[in-house]
Amino acid sequence: MKKLLSIVLSIAMLFTFCGCNVHQSEGKPCADGHHSFTKYVYNNDETCLKDGTQTASCDNMYCSATDTKVKPNSKHSPQVIFIEQIDSTCVKHGCLAHYECELCHTFFTDQTATNVLDKDGLVLPLGEHQTVFVAETKSSCVSHGLLSHYYCDVCGGYFTDQSAIYKVVLEQLQKPFSDHVFNPYYTVDVNPDKYGIGEISWHCVNYDICGVRKDITTVTREDLPDGWIGA
Ligand SMILES: [Zn+2]
Ligand SMILES: [Zn+2]
Ligand SMILES: [Zn+2]
Ligand SMILES: [Zn+2]
Repeated sequence: MKKLLSIVLSIAMLFTFCGCNVHQSEGKPCADGHHSFTKYVYNNDETCLKDGTQTASCDNMYCSATDTKVKPNSKHSPQVIFIEQIDSTCVKHGCLAHYECELCHTFFTDQTATNVLDKDGLVLPLGEHQTVFVAETKSSCVSHGLLSHYYCDVCGGYFTDQSAIYKVVLEQLQKPFSDHVFNPYYTVDVNPDKYGIGEISWHCVNYDICGVRKDITTVTREDLPDGWIGA
């Protein structure tokens, strides 16, 4: 009797165990190690050098487990194109001539794609600055003149020497504003024809920007030259 009971119990347990997997898929994630992976999707990640991978989500829709494994024999044969050397500039690294697989961008030294090249081995050091000499310019009352310097129009850098070793910022080349320079003639600021008393002054040549005038003088129509006709 005891033996029979234990057999019945074992069968019941076995049944419970088998049924468990079925019940687990109804609204619950799987217990560890009880996933079911059947629908593998290829990841399109093979190269010329190694096989790609494929990934499956657990068949239990309530389970978020995934499994990724190698897809055998998915390695592709190289589709090699020749890439010409790209010279460096002062701001951008160039690249040596090489062969490259169009599909996975693996680099090779040769067209037959046998010698793999490390990407870092292709990078050329930065090039020299392309400097031009810029002569000294004068300041005005509204603009900074610049000390003579060398300018690289590739990177927009300012240098004090042709070899572009000593870099400076624009502000270091700027000279202070100069004094105002006045026109050799006066300007009638207020027309005496209209108001009886007018006003004349000598404007700075950059009056439109700096707004500076000097020797502001009150005048009547008689003070102005004959033939002057107010606007
Ligand atoms: Zn699962
Ligand atoms: Zn490739
Ligand atoms: Zn430069
Ligand atoms: Zn001025």
